[in-house]
Amino acid sequence: MDNKCLWDPDRYYNVSRWSDGYFAINNNGSLTVLPGKSTDKPTIILQDVIDEMTSQKIEFPAVIRFHDVLRSQVKLLNKSFEQFIEDFDYEGRFTGVFPIKVNQMREVVEEIVDAGSPYNYGLEAGSKAELLAVLAYNDNRNSLTILNGYKDYDYLRLALLGTKMGKNMVIVIENVSEVAAIIETSKEFQVKPLIGLRSKLSAKSRGKWASSSGDRAKFGLTVAEILAAIKMLKDHKMEDCIKLFHFHIGSQISDVRVFKDAINEGARIYSKLCKLGIPLEYFDVGGGLAIDYDGSSSTNDSSRNYSVNEYATDIISSLKDICDEEGVDDPNIVSESGRFITAHHSCVITRVIDEIKPYSNTFDTRKQSGEHSIVRNIREAEKILTEKNFQEIYNDANGYREDCYNAFKLGILELEERAKIETIFWRIMQKIDVILKTQEFIPEDLQGLDDLLAKQYLCNFSVFQSAADSWAIGQVLPVVPISRLNEEPTELCSLVDITCDSDGKICHFIDYEDINSKSVKLHTFNGEPYYVGLFLTGAYQDVMGDMHNLFGRLNEVHVFTDADDESNFYIEEVIKGNSAENVLSTMQYNPDYMAAKVKNSIDKQIKDGKIAAREGVKLNDFYESCLKSYTYLKV
Ligand SMILES: *Cc1c(COP(=O)(O)O)cnc(C)c1O
Repeated sequence: MDNKCLWDPDRYYNVSRWSDGYFAINNNGSLTVLPGKSTDKPTIILQDVIDEMTSQKIEFPAVIRFHDVLRSQVKLLNKSFEQFIEDFDYEGRFTGVFPIKVNQMREVVEEIVDAGSPYNYGLEAGSKAELLAVLAYNDNRNSLTILNGYKDYDYLRLALLGTKMGKNMVIVIENVSEVAAIIETSKEFQVKPLIGLRSKLSAKSRGKWASSSGDRAKFGLTVAEILAAIKMLKDHKMEDCIKLFHFHIGSQISDVRVFKDAINEGARIYSKLCKLGIPLEYFDVGGGLAIDYDGSSSTNDSSRNYSVNEYATDIISSLKDICDEEGVDDPNIVSESGRFITAHHSCVITRVIDEIKPYSNTFDTRKQSGEHSIVRNIREAEKILTEKNFQEIYNDANGYREDCYNAFKLGILELEERAKIETIFWRIMQKIDVILKTQEFIPEDLQGLDDLLAKQYLCNFSVFQSAADSWAIGQVLPVVPISRLNEEPTELCSLVDITCDSDGKICHFIDYEDINSKSVKLHTFNGEPYYVGLFLTGAYQDVMGDMHNLFGRLNEVHVFTDADDESNFYIEEVIKGNSAENVLSTMQYNPDYMAAKVKNSIDKQIKDGKIAAREGVKLNDFYESCLKSYTYLKV
């Protein structure tokens, strides 16, 4: 059998599992995008997009957005609920909202509102700035605008301004102290708002966002507080405003049983409130619908053990059962899924620009007279290494290296000798690694050797800007080379970025045998530019990035599918990333002033005869052009 047949790139990078049908690997070993989730529809080769960007002089790293994927996810969520509402003869409607905090980019929000208009899909805001945006951008009068987060008087006034504009603004009470403020502002504006009550459920979430629920949750009302809030509203004849019951138990809920628990508890509270005469109409299940980042379909923090269809059926059937039992009408269902809507549609493309090895094999380690005994000993250990004694030699080599550092600190070893010992040490480790590949049993001590020997591929990007969750909470994001996928990769490596921060690295990867692997296999350099993609970055990653080292926002292109086009796509829009002067300005620098200062110094050097006038002009132009350039490396 041809060796190539054994290499299955899809199995190794798990593409067909994490991509939910939006990405695949073609027969030529290229990563492709299937915006319609199906091979019958136009398929885009990612390398073609990169080539077109290169010809348009768009520098990398860059974000590529596939707006068709965004539209597809909006449709999928809404259709799924519509379908099962019909199948279950459920009497309420589905009326979801997109929480813009997940990706506030205007183009993303506009696309979602447009794709969601047949379903009256609305928006959710959690701050004043977000509220200002949704007031202007949710122009569907039949949809909801849901307002969460802590609110001051201006927040509430803006909400009521929306009500006066004829929009279905729902103010969700997160905290008892907001009730009095809502009563006061609605009197001031002489308009009755729609009010939601956020409940603090006892059902506990799990995973990285577990603290969104339970006793110590930041938001939400206990049952006692809900009853107190209702009483206050009743006292002002405003109980008829209470229309929505809300909870949000956390993001990326990996286990569907956690949802079921929450729905059951929430449905009981909802029903009993209805029976108290509160005219509730909406049951808002918040966000939390998870993404299978590692493709394992499990309860791993970076995965989920359910599909969107299962999510929708569980919500609908549980609600129906409990409402029937309690004898109340089926409520309209609201979901605030954000991650699910946006994660797939964008990716970050970065070029690998160098490799960093923990060792170098080039130093001359040949014997010289008068060498220290540690050098002799480790050289001897290398000589006698076999498949039988590798564990012993591993221990010895580590011992000699330890001795080496101690002797060096005492001034007994010369630089040359230390260099030899280190070089031989790493050579022994590489040889043992080769032996381990033939062994059935690997001793525990030696199990991390692979990762110890792994290279670091230096990539032109910033983890802090483009993969915040990988850095902050160890979230797995799929990393896949864009081409050469029919060629088995040989380099086990982790990715490091160009920030001056040792935390600036990605060392959580998918591995189909061992989830949370610290390294991934990539290809050796062959002289061609080598691009890797970081996928599922459309939720939170796109907008949470920070300016560490003043690497700013990335260049961005918006790609649309076009069956009439030769390459099946066109780039609709290019959004320039930050230039050096953009990021400097945010830190209060004045680029014009800086340029003038530098020019002054150069002029002085010219006047003093230290540099030629012609050279001075060139240096000055160079400084100014760098101010206007992209912050990332020019490669
Ligand atoms: C963050 C948030 C969401 C979105 O959660 P996802 O897990 O991204 O779906 C929804 N509702 C509220 C109140 C939130 O705070």
